[in-house]
Amino acid sequence: MHSRFYNEALFEVRLRPRTPLLIKAGGEGAAAMDPTVPDMSFVRLRRPDGDETVYVPGSSLRGVLRGHAERLVRSVRLQEACDPLAHGEGETGYGLKRACRFKDDVPGDAAYRRACYACRLFGATGLASRLRVGDLYPEGPVLRDTRYGVAIDRVTGAVAHGPFELEIVTEASFAGALVLRNFTLGQFGLLAAALLDVADGLVPLGYGKSRGLGRVDLEVTRLTVRTLQDPQAALVGVGALCDERTRQAFSLPAAERERLDVGAAAERERGFFVLEAAGPEARRWLEAAAPRWVEEIS
Ligand SMILES: [Zn+2]
Repeated sequence: MHSRFYNEALFEVRLRPRTPLLIKAGGEGAAAMDPTVPDMSFVRLRRPDGDETVYVPGSSLRGVLRGHAERLVRSVRLQEACDPLAHGEGETGYGLKRACRFKDDVPGDAAYRRACYACRLFGATGLASRLRVGDLYPEGPVLRDTRYGVAIDRVTGAVAHGPFELEIVTEASFAGALVLRNFTLGQFGLLAAALLDVADGLVPLGYGKSRGLGRVDLEVTRLTVRTLQDPQAALVGVGALCDERTRQAFSLPAAERERLDVGAAAERERGFFVLEAAGPEARRWLEAAAPRWVEEIS
């Protein structure tokens, strides 16, 4: 199924810190070498013009979305989101399914059928992900500040470690995009539910969550959904776009359960049908799709 195109959703997002944000750069190399660099500095990359810029790696946002989506799924069906750290056979102590892992010789359809609901969306060893999350880059100025932290020894009450410096971003607007391909409506809905919870500041990002850091605002500035068949004013899942054999092989939902009417007319673009929504309208589509994952796993 991955080798063919059925549908694709592009979520253009803008992320702003509500409380100070720190996405830590890996290692302590720079701080150890250069005393002017904070102990915990924000992750940076060098731009083509030679300047360095802080940014939010797509892997950070993806990790937060996956973790939250897994919690949502487990609250409805424990077995549908595996424990990625538990290898081997049988259930874990908490009744979770052990990590989905597939050898190279397992065909794609068999791996997909055997994977838990979370891995079908986010991927696992031997199973491709349907979701790609790009890096988010700052638009306009970035306000940074330094905080000082200490770790307290719980027994003696004395400073166990520190003070150490934290480089935080207090004001910025980071823009980026997520692409979801060949999705069922339930998968679109689960991603929508996770995005909406991040958007509402319920899911923090980065370092220091227990200190209140990392609450963010996330806005889906534009949502673009492309299909090869006319969606007729609806969001359409892959179960309604593929042939019967593929539907059986991947045990996808029946066609009649793969439509969500959004009342928008599709534009034609390079052979594709394109549905587009911006700002509040995009949010309305996400809200409407969000409950679909519950129906799909029940
Ligand atoms: Zn899994």
